[in-house]
Amino acid sequence: MRPAVATLLTIQEALARVLARVQPLGGEDLEVGDAAGRFLAESTHAVVDLPPFPSSAMDGFALRAADAPATLPVVARVAAGVPAPRALAPGEAMGIATGGAVPDGADAVVPIEVVVDHGNSVEIPQAVDPGAHVRPRGGDVRAGDVVVEAGVRIGPAQVGALAAAGLELARCARRPRAAVITTGTELRRPGERLGPGEIYEANGVMLAAALASAGADVTVIPSVADDDAAHRAALGRGLEADVLVSSGGVSVGPHDLVRRTAAELGVEEVFWGVAVKPGKPLSFGVRGRTLVFGLPGNPVSSLVGFELFVRPAVLSLQGATDPGPRYSEARLARALRRNPARDELVRSRTSAGAEDGTVLEPLDGQESHMIVRAASADALALVPRGEGELAAGATVRYLTLGD
Ligand code: AMP
Ligand code: MG
Repeated sequence: MRPAVATLLTIQEALARVLARVQPLGGEDLEVGDAAGRFLAESTHAVVDLPPFPSSAMDGFALRAADAPATLPVVARVAAGVPAPRALAPGEAMGIATGGAVPDGADAVVPIEVVVDHGNSVEIPQAVDPGAHVRPRGGDVRAGDVVVEAGVRIGPAQVGALAAAGLELARCARRPRAAVITTGTELRRPGERLGPGEIYEANGVMLAAALASAGADVTVIPSVADDDAAHRAALGRGLEADVLVSSGGVSVGPHDLVRRTAAELGVEEVFWGVAVKPGKPLSFGVRGRTLVFGLPGNPVSSLVGFELFVRPAVLSLQGATDPGPRYSEARLARALRRNPARDELVRSRTSAGAEDGTVLEPLDGQESHMIVRAASADALALVPRGEGELAAGATVRYLTLGD
């Protein structure tokens, strides 16, 4: 039976039910250089003060601010990594490179651009503020303080921060193992010749790419025909993963076998049917710790279902502080008719507005099989269900595509 509209969950209700079933995965220690793309399972703490010593922010001369203006003898030249041989005495200057350790006794650096360097002496024409161009020890972080918090995804800046703060290893969430199953007797692999009624399989590679971008370690199980035994074998294999994502076969036709087969294999269905367009007949269940998503077969339905529910679940398995989906706000370039029964995700292109933020241009070709049209979208505008239309210029929330 097709679920009555009234029984469909809202997007928010469905997402809450998914996230309530997520049990975060354990952690593993990784070398900091291998941690990009991963989520920190434990907060990291600086091993050293950063900078570890007062260092020069400029190429110039270290001195006591109180001595300037003056012409001072240059008693040493300090390179980065090669500290001064002794402390600086009153009335002296030392040449110093960017990143060089400011010698004891000095409290300021004068940039090379503002002095006259005579070799053995240096002319400082101006007064100098104490602390000028000196990066204080621990000015970025103190030893023991948090460098990156648990639940944050490690990107290039975080890798740099962890390395600079002296960490060798970072405890990261294990990557979720994900299995992708595509169903449909009509599906053919790339390079095969299409027979009558056949189409190229698109969702397997699409969902694999999406899962990988969410941090999962993905296995794509070869596509299965609409046949009980094939479904049973593929789903049985996929249930060994942390997340099983199938496409197709979750609707109400006689060849839609995914839900029934999953139930026979012990999957407890948590819900079926979300008040969203595209993607209504989406199913979600669990077996043990495995999350089981049945996405509808139309490629855009699969894509939308993934972004609304699967990506947040995969991020949440990795302990993400904010598993999303993360909406931004923009204005509609043109009016959009609302769907009375379902929230709609409208494929759109973003552009910078003349003076007032981002503008969303809904694309032509919004049918759920139109994956090629969808491929020129960079956003999904969320049009809440209701009567009438949203006017041109109305502010709507949207999800960014293309991670
Ligand atoms: P289904 O959800 O199985 O009823 O499929 C809905 C529509 O999506 C049908 O037109 C299918 O041929 C198409 N479809 C299903 N799976 C895929 C796939 N993996 N790649 C491309 N199209 C698909
Ligand atoms: Mg099918």
